[in-house]
Amino acid sequence: MRPSLKIALAWMAILVALTAGPGLGRPADPSDPQIVSVPTAPGLAVRLRRMGLDPFAEWEGQIYILASPRGLASLRSAGISYAPENGRLSSSRFAAAGSQGGLNGAYHSYKELESDLFALEQQYPALAKVYDLGLSLEGRHIYALKISANPARDEAEVLFLGCHHAREWISVEVPFLLGKYLVENYGLDSDIQRLIDSSAVWIIPLVNPDGLEYSIQTYRYWRKNRRDTGDGSFGIDLNRNYGYQWGADDDGSSPNPDSEVYRGPAAFSEPETRAVRDFFLGRNIRALVSYHSFAQTIIYPWGYTTVPAEKDAAMEAIAAHMAALIQAVNGRTYSYGESSRDMYLTNGDLTDWAYGVSGIPAYTIELPPADEIHGGFFNAEADIASIFSENLPAMLYLIDWSIRDFRPAPPQDKNDPGRDAPGRPRRIIPSLLGWNPRSGGN
Ligand SMILES: [Zn+2]
Repeated sequence: MRPSLKIALAWMAILVALTAGPGLGRPADPSDPQIVSVPTAPGLAVRLRRMGLDPFAEWEGQIYILASPRGLASLRSAGISYAPENGRLSSSRFAAAGSQGGLNGAYHSYKELESDLFALEQQYPALAKVYDLGLSLEGRHIYALKISANPARDEAEVLFLGCHHAREWISVEVPFLLGKYLVENYGLDSDIQRLIDSSAVWIIPLVNPDGLEYSIQTYRYWRKNRRDTGDGSFGIDLNRNYGYQWGADDDGSSPNPDSEVYRGPAAFSEPETRAVRDFFLGRNIRALVSYHSFAQTIIYPWGYTTVPAEKDAAMEAIAAHMAALIQAVNGRTYSYGESSRDMYLTNGDLTDWAYGVSGIPAYTIELPPADEIHGGFFNAEADIASIFSENLPAMLYLIDWSIRDFRPAPPQDKNDPGRDAPGRPRRIIPSLLGWNPRSGGN
C-alpha cells in the first residue's frame, strides 16, 4: 500500500478514536483541542503547520486538523473556513475501542510501573536492576531497567524506550514486557540465556511520566509533557526536543507553544529529554528502538530531511529483517523506511539525535493498529499480549545483532565504579559490522 494512503488510513483511526466518545476520559472541555477539516489545496498543509497548527491527515479531499481554541482563531483570522469533525464519525462500532477497565485498565500507570519494576529487581536480583535517570518536571522518576547477567563486565548494550508521547499507552507495555520476558525466561530458554550472557539490555519504559498520568487522570488524548509554557498553553513535544537539527524547520516541529508538536524554547529544555540524553551519553548503546503508536511502521533517520542517511542501506536491512520477524508472528504487516519519506518530516526526535551523535541504528517503531479502524491510540487491553509477542522476535534479533563483533574493553580496576556508574564517558566502538560512527556528511 502506498505510504501516504497507509498513513491516511492510520490517521483515520485517530479521528474515530477521538470522536468515539465513551471511555476517553472526561467530557470535552472547551479548552481541549478539537478536530476540524478544511478542503485540501496545494501547499495548504505546510501553510497550516507554519501557523502552528497540527494538520495530521489528508483524506478524501479534506485536511484534518487538531486545533485548540487559539488555533481555530488563527484559522478564522487567516480567512480559512473549517468544518467541525468531532462526533461526525462516531458510531457504536468504534466506541468499544476506547473502553478500558477502570481508568487505565491493564495498562500501567506511573505508580504501577514503578512497583512492577522494583518487583522484577527484587525477584531476579542477579539479572535485573532499576536505575533512576532523573526527575520529570513534576518530580516523578524516570526509570531504566537493566537486564544483564554480568553487570560488572563491559557488554554490548541495547536500549528500548517507551512513551515519549503520553497517549501512546501501548508503548509502555511493549518494552516493559520485554524486560519481564527476559528475566522470566533466562533460566528456561538457552537462546535467551545466550543473549543475556553477552549483552546489557536497557529499558526505559516511560520517558514522559507526567504526560501519562495526565492522560490517565484528565485527558486521554494528551501527547506532550506538562510544561506550563507561560502563555496559557501546556506541554512540549518531547520527541521534538532533542538536540540534533532541533528546530531545523517549522514543518518537522512547531515553534508555537499551542501546537501538538511544539519543540520547546531550546533543545533539551526539558528534564525528560535531558535524562535520556545524559543516560545515552554515559553508556555505549549500540542500537535502540523507541516505541510509539500507532501506524505499524518501522522508521529510521533521517526525520529532518528526505536526504538518505549515510547508513540508510544498513538501517533499512535491519528494519526489513525486523518487519519480517514481526509479520511471521501474527501476520501483521509493519512497513519500514526512512522516517521523513515513509511518514512525515520531524525534527528534534530521539532517533535523529542518537544516530546523529553516535551513528548507531536507531528506530522508531509505531505499534498497531495501522490500517483498520480499531481504535488508534486506544488499543484494547486484550491486544497488549499479542502486540508484545509479535514484537519480541525483532527485539531479540536487535539484541543479537548488537552482540555480533562486540569487543569488550579490558577488565576494569577493582576500584573502578564500572560501566554501571551513571555519567561514565562513553566510548564508540567502530567495529560493529562496518558500522562506523558517522563523520560529518548529511
Ligand atoms: Zn508517538
